[in-house]
Amino acid sequence: MTDAAKITWRATVLSLYPDAFPGVLGTSVIGTAEQNGLWQLETVDIRDFAVNRHRTVDGPPAGGGAGLVLKPDISAKAIDSVVRDDRPLLYMTPRGRPLTQDRVRQLASGPGLVCFCGRFEGLDQRVIESRGMEEVSIGDFVLAGGEVAAQAMIEACVRLLPGVLGNSESALDESFEDGLLEYPLYTRPREFEGRAIPAVLTSGDHGAVDRWRRTQMEEITKARRPDLWDAHLERKGESPLRSEDNERD
Ligand code: SAM
Repeated sequence: MTDAAKITWRATVLSLYPDAFPGVLGTSVIGTAEQNGLWQLETVDIRDFAVNRHRTVDGPPAGGGAGLVLKPDISAKAIDSVVRDDRPLLYMTPRGRPLTQDRVRQLASGPGLVCFCGRFEGLDQRVIESRGMEEVSIGDFVLAGGEVAAQAMIEACVRLLPGVLGNSESALDESFEDGLLEYPLYTRPREFEGRAIPAVLTSGDHGAVDRWRRTQMEEITKARRPDLWDAHLERKGESPLRSEDNERD
């Protein structure tokens, strides 16, 4: 690939702990892709925008209560220092909309992203509103800071960029591609601690393998993620209610 043909997707991360980067993003296919110029990572240290000699970035919550809040003036200055270049501005927060593979696909198909990692109790609401930040959660649990969340989101995007995954690691045929969870995986040996690979997978009958995998995907999704299963049925034009009725019959 010539340099001119390379697509450079850019991630800018604002954090109080820029040393946490690249972290896992420097390893394996994601790190290699950065070295190959398929994407770029830059960090902005929010504390560089502090104004007093203690480099204070937080204050007590208005209205009282525990913890500290990231100051709006300092945070806004850090955000405004970034050249956005049409990239969405995301704020990692457990209060955000849960990140989905659909949103990851959209982000990966754009020019990149700018993301703000919170700390303490989080960011002053006025900055979220005035800078039009999209609030994103990576799950219903609370981390100590947004850095791990940002790395998870960026990794999910980068692996979808053209040229990042080799043939051995396909982004097709995996969980969420058809709104379903992936089927169980096996590799040699044929028997491990008394457990055999399901016979159909070693039968050489590709049609039977496809059917088995499809059934597994449906059963696993139905059992573990009724929300995904209902959405899948809706997409196929079958109402979730009908599926529950069927189960009751
Ligand atoms: N007070 C916040 C709340 O109750 O929603 C939690 C703040 S948390 C201790 C500090 C920072 O970690 C957040 O501002 C956010 O940036 C990050 N964080 C924590 N959990 C997260 C999650 N599930 N998804 C994304 N970011 C998260």
